[in-house]
Amino acid sequence: MTAPIYLSVVVPVYNEEEVLESLYKRLTKVCDDLGKPFEIIFTNDGSKDRSSEILKEFHNRRPHQIRVIEFSGNFGQHMAIMAAFERVRGEVIINLDADLQNPPEEIPHLLEKYQQGYDYVGSIRDIRQDSFFFRSLPSKFMNWVRRMVTGTRITDQGCMMRAYSRRIVELMSQCHESSTFVTVLGYSFATNPTEIRIRHDARTEGESKYGIYKLVRVTFDLFTSFSMAPLHIFTVFGFFVSSLSGLLVVYLLLRRLFIGPEVEGVFTLFAIAFFLISVAIAGIGIMGEYIGRIYQVVRSRPRYLIREIIEDLSEPQVSSVNKRTAK
Ligand code: UDP
Ligand code: MG
Repeated sequence: MTAPIYLSVVVPVYNEEEVLESLYKRLTKVCDDLGKPFEIIFTNDGSKDRSSEILKEFHNRRPHQIRVIEFSGNFGQHMAIMAAFERVRGEVIINLDADLQNPPEEIPHLLEKYQQGYDYVGSIRDIRQDSFFFRSLPSKFMNWVRRMVTGTRITDQGCMMRAYSRRIVELMSQCHESSTFVTVLGYSFATNPTEIRIRHDARTEGESKYGIYKLVRVTFDLFTSFSMAPLHIFTVFGFFVSSLSGLLVVYLLLRRLFIGPEVEGVFTLFAIAFFLISVAIAGIGIMGEYIGRIYQVVRSRPRYLIREIIEDLSEPQVSSVNKRTAK
């Protein structure tokens, strides 16, 4: 009988050929040093570069510890993580980005906190090493909006490097939503969550896969998955504006009766009308975001497609280095 796996590390990969080798070296070193059985699951999210071949090669180097899920297209970081979460064997699951912005050396710190009895160890990026105007500032703003809208007390929702208990990951795997936000979904199942500060390095190779548009899409996923607040805001605003416009109609009627016909204020009315029309269009858009997601769920198509899984589940083991030192 082989020892059960203690740690599963989950890494989504999308066009990361430049960083994979140094990620492999640093990650396997950290995991080896733990001295406990572990597995690393890479999900290749439809990369168009050499990532796929590199990951296969990693599996050949350590067939019992490295598993590779090959998607047949680009289904997004959160789906890549969920596909791995559905297959983990470890007692603790740690997720990190492939680009080395989440240093693998922080894994022992997350585990240390986990062992103190927390079932969800979140993370706060110590220094944001991204460009201030294009990533840090929007990300700070998004974090604030997300906290307000979703009502979760996660300080830094965008930092994916976190530790989850197996129980949480199993519950997450039972949710078959096609658009979700992993960190918040996990938090919603946690019974004893906590957060620690972790280092955040600059991306040295490759570039961010998130432009402003993708960032906005992901934020919509987050709002619609965890909150109805955008809809409530529109309802409340709608009632408020209808009451105001009711008063305006009465006021204009009275002026018509007592002062007579007048053309003044026509442009103000235009401005008000344009404003309200644009608000209505935004409202329809927000409703559409929800309806689109309901449609996706109703169609119940698979939320991601796997081309191939490269794994050897026969023998989970501690690395040979540790076997030797353990004796
Ligand atoms: N990623 C992915 N699919 C995507 C976009 C990104 O699997 O469609 C992975 C990417 O390879 C990386 C992680 O998600 O491991 C975070 O992406 P990135 O570093 O580009 O995001 P940022 O750090 O800029 O928020
Ligand atoms: Mg990154």
